[in-house]
Amino acid sequence: MALINEHFTKLSNSYLFSDIARKVNSFKVTHPKDKIIRMGIGDATQPLPAAVREAMHKAVDEMGSKDTFRGYGPDHGYSFLIDAIIKNDYASRGVFIEPGEVFIGDGAKSDTGNIGDILRHDNSIGLTDPVYPAYIDANVMSGRTGMLENGKWSDVVYIPCTEDNNFIPELPSRRVDILYLCYPNNPTGTTLTRQELKKWVNYALANDVLIMYDAAYEAYIQDPDIPHSIYEIKGAKKVAIEFRSYSKTAGFTGVRCGYTVVPKELNGFTLDGERVSLNKLWGRRQSTKFNGTSYITQRGAEAIYSPEGKQQVKDLIDYYMTNARIMKEGLEDCGLKVYGGENAPYLWLKCPDGLTSWKFFDKLLYEVKIVGTPGVGFGPSGEGYFRLTGFGDREDTIEAMARLKKWLL
Ligand code: PLP
Repeated sequence: MALINEHFTKLSNSYLFSDIARKVNSFKVTHPKDKIIRMGIGDATQPLPAAVREAMHKAVDEMGSKDTFRGYGPDHGYSFLIDAIIKNDYASRGVFIEPGEVFIGDGAKSDTGNIGDILRHDNSIGLTDPVYPAYIDANVMSGRTGMLENGKWSDVVYIPCTEDNNFIPELPSRRVDILYLCYPNNPTGTTLTRQELKKWVNYALANDVLIMYDAAYEAYIQDPDIPHSIYEIKGAKKVAIEFRSYSKTAGFTGVRCGYTVVPKELNGFTLDGERVSLNKLWGRRQSTKFNGTSYITQRGAEAIYSPEGKQQVKDLIDYYMTNARIMKEGLEDCGLKVYGGENAPYLWLKCPDGLTSWKFFDKLLYEVKIVGTPGVGFGPSGEGYFRLTGFGDREDTIEAMARLKKWLL
């Protein structure tokens, strides 16, 4: 008899985006002629940069010839990609990362979820609230969250980020062993300054806290004073793992590639207090359970760092960020309170007239035919807020703002 991991049964059946899809489908059945504008989901919509496509085509051809065919790749990624990452994403910002500290993977969702394999089930978890829901769900599966009571997991320390604190999280009052930080933030689109991030690194150093730093949206940062990597802060290599993704940087949501940095000086502890290298554990975990991202994909990712690739990625990000700017201005013109959208493709609105997130979702869908994401789906502090994304087409973005103005003004 196979006994199941009963922690899975604690997870709610319907995931946020399935609930949304269900509501949208029933709207479509009753309003077949209406054009819906989707501004809810955080998926890329613009095509892959030409430099990436060319590199992938070339790699496919290499795979078709006996002399250049590649089978299993190096466990933790090809050195051509790791070297490009170190040079362009870190050395260029004065951060020294060694090749053995970078692990190429298939995206930040897998790595932020799987990293829990190397950590005990009874670590206490802290996270900013609202946040990308996969962190919690992965910890529910490993039994780290306790029980769900009134929309909150009993063993999770929620660190609220709302307009009351200007979306700047305060240090937790309860002990946490593992802390998730996501900046630029999904869903609020807000960022931390160097000074604010330093506060968290110092807190982690002083309290032996392990920070999981998800920088999936770092490429969207426009303000030169905002750090792109937690390792720009002194001491961070002793306390933080950093997750990066090409999904939103270069339209890789369907291609799948990202990487995780686990510094060699970062340690976890045994129950006896002995220090153990997390780099070694993660390397071991990956060699056992992951057989690498394809050669073709890694060649595509490498092309992002070529001069043409950099320009094309910049153009792509400018496209989405122009959408975000159009949306921010449009929403503010409608008298709505809007956060984010300046260093991230996400806009976080305060629902008008004290509406709950789901009430506003229904009104927006039925009265303006726009689909967004209810803030409460990202955590209890998201109630009363709503997320829109700049990942749509320009025309749709402009039309959506026009519809909103007509509706609200
Ligand atoms: N981290 C955050 C904060 C995200 O918003 C997302 C996707 O929306 C991911 C990670 C997952 O990214 P990937 O496509 O690299 O798995």
